[in-house]
Amino acid sequence: MPDSEVDLFVIGAGSGGVRAARIAAGYGARVLVAEEYRVGGTCVIRGCVPKKLLVYASRYAEDFEDAAGYGWSVPTPTFDWSHLIANKDREIARLEMAYTTALERAGVMIVKARAVLEDAHAVRLSTGEKVRAKHILVATGGRPWNGPDIPGIEHVISSNEAFHLRELPKRIVIQGGGYIAVEFAGIFHGLGSEVTLVYRGEDILRGFDDDVRAHLHAEMEKRGIKIICGKVVKAVRPTADALTAHLSDDTTIEVDKAMFAIGRWPNVEGLGLEHAGVQFAKNGGIAVDNLSRTSVPHIYAIGDVTNRINLTPVAVRDGHAFADTVFGNKPTPADHVDVPTAVFSEPEVGVVGLTERQACERLAKIDIYKTSFRPMKMSLAGRDTRAFFKLVVDGMTDRVVGCHIVGPDAGELIQLVGIAVKMKATKAQFDSVMAVHPTAAEELVTMREKALSVERQAAE
Ligand SMILES: Cc1cc2nc3c(=O)[nH]c(=O)nc-3n(C[C@H](O)[C@H](O)[C@H](O)COP(=O)(O)OP(=O)(O)OC[C@H]3O[C@@H](n4cnc5c(N)ncnc54)[C@H](O)[C@@H]3O)c2cc1C
Repeated sequence: MPDSEVDLFVIGAGSGGVRAARIAAGYGARVLVAEEYRVGGTCVIRGCVPKKLLVYASRYAEDFEDAAGYGWSVPTPTFDWSHLIANKDREIARLEMAYTTALERAGVMIVKARAVLEDAHAVRLSTGEKVRAKHILVATGGRPWNGPDIPGIEHVISSNEAFHLRELPKRIVIQGGGYIAVEFAGIFHGLGSEVTLVYRGEDILRGFDDDVRAHLHAEMEKRGIKIICGKVVKAVRPTADALTAHLSDDTTIEVDKAMFAIGRWPNVEGLGLEHAGVQFAKNGGIAVDNLSRTSVPHIYAIGDVTNRINLTPVAVRDGHAFADTVFGNKPTPADHVDVPTAVFSEPEVGVVGLTERQACERLAKIDIYKTSFRPMKMSLAGRDTRAFFKLVVDGMTDRVVGCHIVGPDAGELIQLVGIAVKMKATKAQFDSVMAVHPTAAEELVTMREKALSVERQAAE
């Protein structure tokens, strides 16, 4: 491609960049997107999609066991990791092609190269060409943060490598307490690995509702995942045929793989942002206003590179809003309020809105409704597991300001509850809805007894 000029140069063909490029092209803009790795970005290539496929695979283990209580006799199942990974890779390649085709059909030019800003209007490609752009969108996402440079860090894998292991590790230690660590603990455990989760904080899933954290912790341990909180892995040393993970309390764990999932970092380094005068936020990401505009008026940034809410739907929505704003003449601010989200752990978690702790800090009066019960399907299966539902209600307005679910299909359920929360539905309106029986979700409209009612003192 010769040196040229475009209306929009998108750096990164991930969730946000692809959406922004397609919509901008639909408005008639001349759009070029540069991608240094694979079209689709983190979500499609090494995030949400391959992860969910592995989650599905891991859940068959319990399904086979549970089937016995319903009269099925299942021969001892065996599992083939290479078969799963090959199928997963085929599906990811199909999706990558679908994303590429969608971009091409929209008239977007794709360049497989790394792009770096030379100045506020010029982007240099690793293939050598220079492109001038009226607008630049930085959508470069993030990458796993490996943490402090501990001895043996070179033996530690991140989620990137976990998707491509040659064989399923018999024993794995995973350091981290966020959703990626918790999800991979469930995946490896379900597929047959012996899993130890090490987390330096007080409990897993920091930032989630405390009841959710405690419930999931207990459920994961019931299933046989060992969780060690308040400690870190301080060294990883190879032995003859395995690894020894040394913890901060001087205990050791023998494993075949060590994985860290201790956070992600926005991809801002080496992008030439300083040449263009783009400023950073305190969170390490690119600073933007609510229209995703950086400190340079014609340079925008969306998605994980802004390090706000690092989720695919947020990157996609912000990419769309950017294109509407800049090329559709419809200024569309980012709306990051009441974003529903799921953790595909075993059991699953779905949450939206305020936690009890946040509600206590922000509202004058709150009412809490919660219930924990054994899902009906587990009765004949004989599995010792409980689901958990919690509603956080503004005691002054009766509005449901938070919902927290742990149990089967929590991710599916929370998408629907998210609509009600976004519509500012009240608890009375929840209760006016007829229950669907027999389901677990009927608890959402049948919780009558307050578990807690807290009113803040006027002086506070
Ligand atoms: C293991 C894992 C599981 C996840 N699970 C979920 C989930 O279940 N649900 C959910 O909502 N989110 C999930 N996420 C988060 C989600 O993947 C991200 O929030 C989302 O992909 C962010 O989109 P983005 O467009 O900002 O960046 P990305 O999708 O990361 O895309 C950025 C692209 O830019 C490219 N790039 C970077 N620098 C350059 C450059 N200089 N030149 C050219 N190209 C460049 C990268 O190669 C990449 O393709 C998960 C993430 C991980 C890691």
